[in-house]
Amino acid sequence: GRPSPSEYLAKLNPAQREAVTASAEGGLAIHAGPGSGKTAVLTTRVAYLVQKGGIKPEELVVVTFTNKAANEMKVRLSKIVGAETVDKLVMGTFHSVCVRYLRKYAKLVNLASNFLITDRDDCLGIIKRLLQALPVPANLKREMKPQTWLESISKCKSRMMSPDQYRADRSAAVDQEKIEWVARMYEAYEDALASGNALDFDDLLVRGYQLFRNHPRVIAKIKSVLIDEFQDTNSVQYDIVKLIAAPSGSLTVVGDPDQSIYGWRNAEIENLEKMLKDFHPVRQIFLKENYRSTGAILGAALAVVRQDTKRINKSLTTSHPAGSSVVLHPAPSAQDEAAFVASTIKHLVAHLGGLVGYNDFAVLLRYGALSRNIEVALQKAGIPSRMVGGHKFFERIEIKDMLCYLQLLSNPSYSPALMRVINVPRRAIGDKTIREIVATAEKKKISPFEVCVKIAKGQSIVQGMTTAQRKGIRTLVELVRDGRTKADEGVDVASLIDLIVDRVGYRAHLEKQHSHDAAERWENVEELKAYATVVAQENPSTADLATAADPEEGDSQFEEVAILPKNGSLSIEDDDSDIEIVDSPKPKSRGRKGSEETEKLEVPLSSQAAVEGAATPLEIFLATSMLATDTETQAAKGDAKLEKVTISTCHAAKGLEWPVVFIPACEDGTYPFFRSTDANEVDEERRLLYVAITRAQSFCFLSYAAQRMAGAEMKQKKPSPFIATASQTYPSLFVKKLQKVTPKLRGEVAKVLGRTAPSEEVAKRMIDEYLATMPVDPPVWDVASQPTGSRDYGSFGSSSGRYGGFGSQ
Ligand code: ATP
Ligand code: MG
Repeated sequence: GRPSPSEYLAKLNPAQREAVTASAEGGLAIHAGPGSGKTAVLTTRVAYLVQKGGIKPEELVVVTFTNKAANEMKVRLSKIVGAETVDKLVMGTFHSVCVRYLRKYAKLVNLASNFLITDRDDCLGIIKRLLQALPVPANLKREMKPQTWLESISKCKSRMMSPDQYRADRSAAVDQEKIEWVARMYEAYEDALASGNALDFDDLLVRGYQLFRNHPRVIAKIKSVLIDEFQDTNSVQYDIVKLIAAPSGSLTVVGDPDQSIYGWRNAEIENLEKMLKDFHPVRQIFLKENYRSTGAILGAALAVVRQDTKRINKSLTTSHPAGSSVVLHPAPSAQDEAAFVASTIKHLVAHLGGLVGYNDFAVLLRYGALSRNIEVALQKAGIPSRMVGGHKFFERIEIKDMLCYLQLLSNPSYSPALMRVINVPRRAIGDKTIREIVATAEKKKISPFEVCVKIAKGQSIVQGMTTAQRKGIRTLVELVRDGRTKADEGVDVASLIDLIVDRVGYRAHLEKQHSHDAAERWENVEELKAYATVVAQENPSTADLATAADPEEGDSQFEEVAILPKNGSLSIEDDDSDIEIVDSPKPKSRGRKGSEETEKLEVPLSSQAAVEGAATPLEIFLATSMLATDTETQAAKGDAKLEKVTISTCHAAKGLEWPVVFIPACEDGTYPFFRSTDANEVDEERRLLYVAITRAQSFCFLSYAAQRMAGAEMKQKKPSPFIATASQTYPSLFVKKLQKVTPKLRGEVAKVLGRTAPSEEVAKRMIDEYLATMPVDPPVWDVASQPTGSRDYGSFGSSSGRYGGFGSQ
């Protein structure tokens, strides 16, 4: 059965209980270090507000840092309040919450409700095209890479600064020409997005903000707002918080300034001060007990973060035993380091007697490229792994192709998608023809897709098209026409993918173009279908936002604006007659080709579902996948049951925990990252390492290599200064070799993880089997014969809260 409030409250410590049960009225800020139950408290508070606070689930907005965190929270909450209640919550990242409102109230901010979300790749593509099209001075082109332009634009957008405001903001000290060009580029970039009816990630927030600000009715029903990882909100996100929490005045934020690691993405730590002022008086609660990590791990983490002299010391203690010391492993090379990771994983699985499995291990990396050695070593050792935290899956050619086709079905005027698939599979359409199509579109003030429709109908709108090209374009146009019809009827996305694959002969295309790994690519397409099915299950409907205006309250104008799109559709007839734009949604009269001579075959520009204010499965899928990271697609994989080691970036590991954590490449130039030069950036790098170490529950391995390839060059490496300083200041906290796993240690690990220790018999059998197959066992030290440099850890073992000493005095 479900636990009652008194049951789940009994499991909390007094400070946590106070936070969960605090009145919904006014502001509440929960400050606490890693592993102190901030996320757990937030989750429980949602349940409590629904069960005891008199707030309906649809009146709550809960913001998490990742979609994965939102899904985990939903799973936990389902066990307390039931799935029906959880489905009504508006819960997700800032981006996905904004998408939900924007989709529903698109017209209020002059958007078509079938707007698309561009990923970074497409945004970069737009910048590259503009760099060619605009007379940008050569020196600026040399100085600024496309990414740099995009970052400058994004910075403006995340502060809601228009191009003109950006111009006005210039100070005399900086390069005036550069400012002018960034502003111009910004304008051109915005035009490009608008003409494709597309929004980038920043737009989702900015447009969301505008919607909430200009149409307070949309958010009038929100009774309480709760935000996790508040320290990493940026300026526009805070403005959104302020708006949506304004009607009720009820806002709960949880955060930890020590874990602020997204300054590079314009997060602003000052938001906490703003919140304390804007929601004055704010009740503040501090949580001091860490429930995640052993004393040794917490000690090592604090030894790193307290090197920041500007940091405010906070108390953080653990009642867990000291446990196994943090290992600081020097490796001769990156390959040796990776081999050390692999052999240690095998060693621990066996020596802990099955207390942990591969799912319990994470390898956390400063940046994605460090994963190669690790992946190779794990594979060699026969250890399955999953890479998370990047957008890697969605960057794959075959996935990108499918997404572009789907985007095209959703919104034919979205040119980046058309440009990408117009010649996939080959339709004999080269760059020159594409340029001509684009030029024709500009001249005629229609979208490139509309040009294609005309070509498909046999008009000679673009000169010199061959029969093969025409035929290719006709196939594409017909696919979009039929796919759109199906999408509009609410057909599921997996079937749409099947339709695309069938019509364009995608599988044959893979075999022809990528013969060496066609099978793997095809599997990815299958995986995308599986993912689509999961998305459909997780997003049953978006029509149930709490904010829907109550018809009884009147304001019919608002109602009307909200649901009445200016619908139009593009029709092709099977003869050569001219193109026709149908201005209002027509009753569906779609038949098979040639079934009736005069019948029009429409390509609707706006879906019927959108007219009714709901999103089609396709629209939901596109929005979700554009905001997803690999973590989510993995869940859809058929072999989800297979235990795997997680390889992740440190950034993506935020908020998560694993029994065993490896942090390779603890080198100078990695921590801090070589590009981080100013003091604030270096501080952020240190916090990143702190975040990484505090993911560990029972074992933490830091390692560094004496040499590592950087590009084509072999580089000599020095240990990270953060680690060097920590180990010099607190030599007793780090050991070179893992402590021998004894029955006592197994017992402690079991306690920390809340699991049952294996019997000695089982453990012994596993160790024997392992030793029989293992060529090299990683070196360990025996407690009885301690290596030099290590000290007696016994004193950390009691639940005396000694670790508070690192933070509080
Ligand atoms: P982070 O800053 O890393 O996000 P957090 O403060 O959000 O950490 P949680 O992830 O909520 O911490 O909790 C860390 C772990 O401690 C979880 O496994 C959680 O279940 C456990 N935990 C939290 N509170 C308690 C408690 N009162 N008793 C036992 N376990 C707890
Ligand atoms: Mg958390």
